[in-house]
Amino acid sequence: MTLSVDPSLPADEAEPAGQFEVHDAGVLAHARDLIDSLPSLRLVQQEVVNAVRRNEIWRGEECLNLLAPEAPTSPVVRSLLSSEIGTRAAEGHIGAVQRWFVGTRYIDEVEALCVELLKKAFCSNYADHRLIASMLGNLTVYTALTRPGDTIMSIPQPTGGHSANREIGPAGIRGLRIVDVPLDPVTLDVDLDEFARIARAERPKLVALGASMTLFPFPIREISEIIAPWGGRVFFDGAHQLGLIGGGQFQDPLREGAAVMTGSAGKTFSGPQSGIIVWNDPELTAPIADTIFPVIAATHQVNRVAALAAATAEFLAFGREYMAAIVANAQTLAQALHDRGIAVLGADRGFTRTHQVILDVRRFGNGMDVARRLEAANIITNKNLIPSDRPEDWDRPHGLRIGTTEVTRYGMGAEQMATIADLIVDVLEERRPVSAVKQDVTDLRRAHPSLHYCFPAD
Ligand SMILES: *Cc1c(COP(=O)(O)O)cnc(C)c1O
Repeated sequence: MTLSVDPSLPADEAEPAGQFEVHDAGVLAHARDLIDSLPSLRLVQQEVVNAVRRNEIWRGEECLNLLAPEAPTSPVVRSLLSSEIGTRAAEGHIGAVQRWFVGTRYIDEVEALCVELLKKAFCSNYADHRLIASMLGNLTVYTALTRPGDTIMSIPQPTGGHSANREIGPAGIRGLRIVDVPLDPVTLDVDLDEFARIARAERPKLVALGASMTLFPFPIREISEIIAPWGGRVFFDGAHQLGLIGGGQFQDPLREGAAVMTGSAGKTFSGPQSGIIVWNDPELTAPIADTIFPVIAATHQVNRVAALAAATAEFLAFGREYMAAIVANAQTLAQALHDRGIAVLGADRGFTRTHQVILDVRRFGNGMDVARRLEAANIITNKNLIPSDRPEDWDRPHGLRIGTTEVTRYGMGAEQMATIADLIVDVLEERRPVSAVKQDVTDLRRAHPSLHYCFPAD
């Protein structure tokens, strides 16, 4: 029995009458059939395990995972994610007095190590470890530092912004008025003159600099000086760049004037999927901490905290070298694609200062089709809005986003980046059968089995 979807099942028939699902009705119907047809729940459970295993073999061993928001974690981090401590409840703040429950002495130890390691990694006075996702970090910032009806400014999605800081995300549900940070559509730089003009008229309480398409640093210092006269603050949403920042390979937002920074531990930082928040001003500590608990998190997954602490220790040991290699690989891959005739954003500025390479693939169709064609060859990327797209091009934008975090951690370097560029161009220009490219991709991945930038296993 396989979990693949039966394409002969029309989606409208697959959905029970009167039931609205946002999920693909055919995929859900297949799961229902499986649950109903198997003779025991034990076999149903086994189907879950089997699907996880299939993913582990395909994505984990046979694919070139070039998805920018992903990173492989070390064996220690992975084993901590399934540890006993993850079955324990520890609501509240670290220490015997501010917990709801007793029995937390070792949990306190783990959480305190996590907090202190995070402070060290980001050279910050404060850090919090309880955010299950970076989205919740952004919700924390908006809850702690704004009131409904306040005005903020953030980056629109076609120029790289993320829903986390827009109407449809945490900023929107906080009831904030959102004004665009103007970006030059070609250079993707903040247009500072235009920004100053709009900001002086709108007087935003926060300017959120958060980009999921991110190639170059932002003028944080200039922006924070422009908004300082009315007490405006910069909030840096470093979801993607978090590792690069901690590893000294990108700008350092807290030192350049940002009041608070959030980030995803599972992106370049290469820890467990998780949120991080850091800040320096003691006046922000009570509003942020009081939002995290008891508003955003109660039980906060202590196994995840342990894995985050272990990943942060690894990061402090290897992060600088690892993050530098990620950026070097992105620059090499971008140049190699450009040399092979592919349109790469940022060509006039050295392509990228991050882990990302952004292609304009309109010559080959739209980003969704291109990503699917690459997927057929085991090359995993994603479609992305680019500045020439309109927001309504959401489903079929013309960009393709590539990230070099995972291939770097598996020890690939300049030589492999040239090979990867060839494999991508083989698919885009249909130079070779997809099956032949897929075989080469799988061989390349299998030739790099070991994870780098972590402590040797005992
Ligand atoms: C990925 C991303 C987020 C969300 O992070 P999660 O850890 O997935 O919750 C928020 N902001 C930006 C800019 C992102 O790219």
